[in-house]
Amino acid sequence: MRLFVAVTPPPEAVAELSSATEAVRAAHPRLRWTRPDQWHLTLAFLGTVGDEARAGLVNRLARAAALHPPMRLALTGAGRFGDRVLWTRVTGDVAALRGLAAAARVAATRVGIAVEERPYRPHLTLARGRDGADLRPVVDALAGFAGCTWTATQLHLVRSHLGAGPDRTSRYETLNSWPLTGS
Ligand code: ATP
Ligand code: MG
Repeated sequence: MRLFVAVTPPPEAVAELSSATEAVRAAHPRLRWTRPDQWHLTLAFLGTVGDEARAGLVNRLARAAALHPPMRLALTGAGRFGDRVLWTRVTGDVAALRGLAAAARVAATRVGIAVEERPYRPHLTLARGRDGADLRPVVDALAGFAGCTWTATQLHLVRSHLGAGPDRTSRYETLNSWPLTGS
């Protein structure tokens, strides 16, 4: 199954970002906007993982969560990966988030999952561009957004069902959640 490791913003942060992006969403209906109830910060994208590797992964992610403390984060402004991905930036205790992302990658590698070497760029994906999209005006429109600070308290292993959501978006299913209990 197709898996990724993530942390999620709490309902207040989702509600705030949702209302801050509402007008921009309405103004740019051709972008494929992600749904607020599915918003997450991907720490490690694992691709297709077999049952055996998943069992080992679950054990190692549980241990990683037990070693990492809760972290204070906020969502601020906007940026883009070319004209493909529009995102909002993660600020706050990003060093801790990077540490947790690295631990998730190590956990995956140890059970034989090939994870990408690309450097981790903390972000929350807001929309994806279709061919010919110009994300620059959308980034400008969201530049002033400054969300409240929240605490990430859990690590999640999430399954992605490609194209199974409304409008052929992907649907995510949380398989496991572990509290961050390190200090
Ligand atoms: P779609 O691919 O149909 O646009 P999606 O990107 O939401 O849907 P997935 O491709 O399963 O669904 O991705 C799940 C999560 O992992 C998303 O947050 C996505 O941005 C991230 N992700 C996907 N591929 C990669 C990758 N190669 N490197 C890093 N993160 C990725
Ligand atoms: Mg994808």
